[in-house]
Amino acid sequence: MLRRSIKGLCLAWLAALLGGGPVLAAGYRTANFIVDAPTPEQARRIGDAAEQYRHDLAIEWLGGPLPRWSRPCPIRAQVAPQLGAGGATSFVFDAGEVFGWTMSIQGSEERILDSVLPHEITHTIFASHFRRPLPRWADEGACTTVEHPVERARQHRLLIEFLTTQRGIAFPEMFAMREYPADVLPLYAQGYSLARFLIERGGRRRYVAFVGDGLASNDWSGALGRHYGLPDVPRLQGLWLDWVRQGCPAPPAALVAAAPPMTGPAGDWSARGRGQSPDPVPPAAAVASLPGRRSIYALQARRPGVVDADGADAQPPVSGVAAARETASVR
Ligand SMILES: [Zn+2]
Repeated sequence: MLRRSIKGLCLAWLAALLGGGPVLAAGYRTANFIVDAPTPEQARRIGDAAEQYRHDLAIEWLGGPLPRWSRPCPIRAQVAPQLGAGGATSFVFDAGEVFGWTMSIQGSEERILDSVLPHEITHTIFASHFRRPLPRWADEGACTTVEHPVERARQHRLLIEFLTTQRGIAFPEMFAMREYPADVLPLYAQGYSLARFLIERGGRRRYVAFVGDGLASNDWSGALGRHYGLPDVPRLQGLWLDWVRQGCPAPPAALVAAAPPMTGPAGDWSARGRGQSPDPVPPAAAVASLPGRRSIYALQARRPGVVDADGADAQPPVSGVAAARETASVR
């Protein structure tokens, strides 16, 4: 039995990591979440939104709502207008189960509600569905597609910057990445763009079926062909680059209709439209005027045996198997 613990993560800003955020003062409990936020009203709005996203996004991605978790996910929210938007979600995979949820989010209330929360909730939906770690590009890319258009447009601007400054990631390398690279922002920007490319060609449920196939078969080129009629991973990179050069146009309806029929439990994709409307594409000059947001990235690996506050890691590690736990914060 391989015991593996993964901490999923997202975007957290230096200001919060160094402290100085607002004091958490109020709690609110829903069926699946326990929220700490500066005021009771904020805690209630965040908790209700988290439940709504959990319900709606599970239908979007999986075709039906998730069952109630056995234990609620604590959400610690730092809410202040000047805080950069970000979040981190942790969970533990063990023997095909997922548990030990914790979520930290921060930012203005508006950005928490329209971007950070749906992004983090999508991580929990994927963890609940796949019960195993995803390739980072596929996880972060998909989670970014549910953010506010302003945030998605920012990822696109960053993508253009990275592709024009030799910071792009070759697709074979990106598809093989199970951990966050040292230069993490290109992974987010490229992952988002490729997830969008695929979702516009088949919807969210097909994307989930594709990722599930790739995970199970470890044959991502084959999965691209089976679910999208696309060529192998290296040639997909060329197609995707051409699409980016053309300004990411929506695919022709005939191309979408020509995708192979869905098979298996995630079928019925044909009833679904394209995943999302095209993002606003900023002029190239906007790249130079990006706000100077600071970024950090930290990765630390702990050996097994470290006990979580919730005791999730309290069982002894399986002898002879090097279990790994990763925690990380990006931006
Ligand atoms: Zn994320």
